[in-house]
Amino acid sequence: MSERNHAGWLAAAERIDPETRPFIDGAFTDPLSGETFASTSPRDGAVLARVAACGAGDVDRAVRAARAAFDDERWRGLPPVERKRIMLRWAELIEAHAGELALLDTLEMGKPISESLRIDAAGAAATIAWYAETVDKTYGEVAPAPGSALALVTREPLGVVGAVVPWNYALLIASWKLAPAIATGNSVVLKPAEQTSLASLVLARLAHEAGLPAGVLNVVPGRGEVAGQALGRHPDVDKIAFTGSAEVARLFQVYAGESNGKQVSVEAGGKSPQLVLPDADIPAAASAVAWGIFYNAGQTCNAGSRVIVHAAVKDRLLAEIVKVTGETFRGGDPLDPATVMGPLVDETQLRRVLGYLETGKAEGARVVLGGSANGTFVEPTILDDVTNDMTVAREEIFGPVLSVITYDGGVDEGVRLANDSDFGLVASVWTRDVATAHTVARRLRAGTVWVNTFDASDVITPFGGFKATGAGRDKSLHALEAYTALKTTWLDLKDNQ
Ligand code: NAD
Repeated sequence: MSERNHAGWLAAAERIDPETRPFIDGAFTDPLSGETFASTSPRDGAVLARVAACGAGDVDRAVRAARAAFDDERWRGLPPVERKRIMLRWAELIEAHAGELALLDTLEMGKPISESLRIDAAGAAATIAWYAETVDKTYGEVAPAPGSALALVTREPLGVVGAVVPWNYALLIASWKLAPAIATGNSVVLKPAEQTSLASLVLARLAHEAGLPAGVLNVVPGRGEVAGQALGRHPDVDKIAFTGSAEVARLFQVYAGESNGKQVSVEAGGKSPQLVLPDADIPAAASAVAWGIFYNAGQTCNAGSRVIVHAAVKDRLLAEIVKVTGETFRGGDPLDPATVMGPLVDETQLRRVLGYLETGKAEGARVVLGGSANGTFVEPTILDDVTNDMTVAREEIFGPVLSVITYDGGVDEGVRLANDSDFGLVASVWTRDVATAHTVARRLRAGTVWVNTFDASDVITPFGGFKATGAGRDKSLHALEAYTALKTTWLDLKDNQ
């Protein structure tokens, strides 16, 4: 299926007939709310489907199903090797249905089909397979108690997890939550973003086909303020795992505080710096800067949206970035496998990005590349003469807009500018000096620091940020801790001595 050419994808797009109802307790069910919303493609404005807008009653049904599945241990009570097999089968089914998943994601969100296949579908399958392998390889601890006692420290699932995710990497980010949550024995209610509901519903169907018992994974499409809020405030949800904007992240912390004090982990946005020192490999840095901001049309939480470059190399770097961008990031139909850059997700995002461009210009930034839009497609745009106090340097634009900030002091000034942000998701430093690389990496306040590269990542390393970017980490073995609680079991052995 992934071998299709442009015409093949166009033909497949004509044939879609997606499921639009919530998946609750192992089946697609008619929503109690009876309401729907339009799923519209940013490719051409076509309405792809009308999706169930789940209400509080639907969320409650999903949470009850999840709770019942947790309480009767139909999943967590299975032998670990059996749970591993089911999750591995799920990953295989995702691979087998990668074309269906990627097509829905591309149609709903506008990202190039090759990226939906490579990053979202393949990435979700790989993530689920990776966590499947942890199920029968995770051990507890024996504490150094006196000989008259045996003290065991084990990890137990939390119960019902609400996963609330954004639209920019809908399947991949969902898998970062679902895989460790389910691997550790929890039940999950997933609330996808309004813009990207359809592939998540397929994900749930495939989990069920793989043998995941009913109620362990439920999906409730719906509006954030309605379905998302109902999940966040539900008194029988034990944890919310959220990825999205910093504003909504804070709402979930409020929902938790005003309901049952559920745990909340949040992965929010960024304004991530790429710090280019005078001794940097300029062509390599330029390529990474262009990819770091224009990839996925800039709709990436860890987009390198601020380049902080020393004055000595600024002109060379900027010229190279402009060259790479012109050669690489031409817009095209996201259903064409050759397309590298698609439209923005929707009109709201378009207005937001264009609004930031106007603000940037009004505050003194100079457009050196791009700056206009055609439909929902925004040209790759570079703003020069940006200072770090301007709005375009402080707020997350979430579009293909690079802010170029020049400094002419020492490395301390570069580090200060890089760290002068409310966010702290990722950062990079470009230098040929090993000692400088290490010291700067240590000083950058970000969850991930790249040295002479950008956006290199894998499920094996944690992902998340400092400051307003959030609390908690996705990916790696550490994510297992986010869905479990420690239990101490202390046995008195005296009578048997
Ligand atoms: P968003 O915060 O608007 O929405 C995220 C989710 O929250 C969606 O499912 C939405 O329906 C729901 N939601 C919205 N309003 C709500 C409310 N009032 N109550 C409850 N739920 C609500 O974010 P978005 O526009 O979907 O995604 C873009 C944002 O996500 C960017 O800020 C980006 O940086 C961030 N993001 C962060 C990471 C990361 O790992 N740090 C990854 C990807 C995206």
